[in-house]
Amino acid sequence: MGYLALIVVMLLLIFVVVPRLRLRAVLARAFPTNYAKILRRNLPEYRHMPTDLQMQLKRRIKQFLYEKNFVACAGLVLNDEIKVTIAGKACLLLLNREIEIYPSLTHILVYPGSFVVPRQQRNEDGTIMQSHQALSGESWSDGRVILAWDQIVDNEHVQSMGQDVVLHEFAHQLDSENGSTNGAPDLPSTQAYQRWSQVMQAEFERLHEDLAQGIPTVLDPYGATNPAEFFAVATEAFYKKSRLLAEAHPALFAQLKQYYKVDPREWAF
Ligand SMILES: [Zn+2]
Repeated sequence: MGYLALIVVMLLLIFVVVPRLRLRAVLARAFPTNYAKILRRNLPEYRHMPTDLQMQLKRRIKQFLYEKNFVACAGLVLNDEIKVTIAGKACLLLLNREIEIYPSLTHILVYPGSFVVPRQQRNEDGTIMQSHQALSGESWSDGRVILAWDQIVDNEHVQSMGQDVVLHEFAHQLDSENGSTNGAPDLPSTQAYQRWSQVMQAEFERLHEDLAQGIPTVLDPYGATNPAEFFAVATEAFYKKSRLLAEAHPALFAQLKQYYKVDPREWAF
């Protein structure tokens, strides 16, 4: 075997064969009992979903935790509860789908609470104003998701609103997988994109109209910001307010059901 061929074989072993064997070993391990307890406590969906979906979720969580790096920020101390809760919510979006686990995502940065980011704002006279904004989550297409832990669990205000920052930011990750974060994730065909865009456009306009007329909306008004935020907000409502969304927005619900391949009404509580 030539020298070059030997190098190719070595690289294949290091970067393809060994990681696959490691992943297989990770997936073969039993799901730790304390992880299951965390899921029951922090993911009410898990308690109510059918066993086959629970099994899928646990398998996906094991892979997520193996592949992704968690980074503690601003003095947070990482623990299993933080990692399993975030992984569990992120993997809810992947059930019943033969897709990779957020292939471009490498790091999840977790802050104890809201984090402040610098923002540039263009004034009407064209001048640029520097400001700061407190955020509970952010998603970047360069492989990072940033989250505030105190917005994820034990936050009654957020829960009563049907919001979920983890679902929101990971919907952005799905949205960015096809190269542009524009409110349309990876879809199987041109027709699927056409249908998606018809439904989303109509629903986006309806949200604008409802807000302009002061009509209460099932969807978080933040979804009116742009099509990418609309998809993220619609994803939150699909999982957290499934019955309400299905009643008030049947076309939107059907579109999301087709994409996510689950019906969260089955485990709504
Ligand atoms: Zn967003």
